Amino acid sequence: MTEKCVFCEIANGRIPSIRVYEDPDFIAFMDINPISEGHLLLVTREHYPSTLDVPDKLLDKALTLAKRLAKAMLLGVGAEDFNLIVNNGPMAGQLVPHWHMHVIPRRSKGEIPIKTGDPADLTKLPFVAERIRQNLQ
Ligand code: AMP
Ligand code: ZN
Repeated sequence: MTEKCVFCEIANGRIPSIRVYEDPDFIAFMDINPISEGHLLLVTREHYPSTLDVPDKLLDKALTLAKRLAKAMLLGVGAEDFNLIVNNGPMAGQLVPHWHMHVIPRRSKGEIPIKTGDPADLTKLPFVAERIRQNLQ
């Protein structure tokens, strides 16, 4: 892709970013609207819209890299806890349709408006789990 994708433009240097890491497959840069100080984004150089589109080999590398970046981020900004978040698709809150993982330090519980759900219906939960199991490949 494309001139329209902001992360493609960042990857190819046409839009500036504050980079903390780069290699042939990934770049990592500071989120311009941080949820908390230190919030960074790990982004594939290639344009893949969602996790489902990213080759497995790159995804394996992404988690190892996220761990490395998180360690550096926590030391760098003075935090102990963090979230790794990937939004996939607009219903999941993905605004930029180019794969990225948020690496977000957490110093208090209120910084991300994530709410837990209601208690599960325990008579249904095993069947839900079984439907997922049946579709595992
Ligand atoms: P998502 O909702 O998962 O697609 O998150 C997109 C993230 O990209 C948001 O946290 C934005 O603040 C961030 N973002 C958008 N444009 C830029 C940019 N030019 N530089 C850095 N971060 C950006
Ligand atoms: Zn892109």
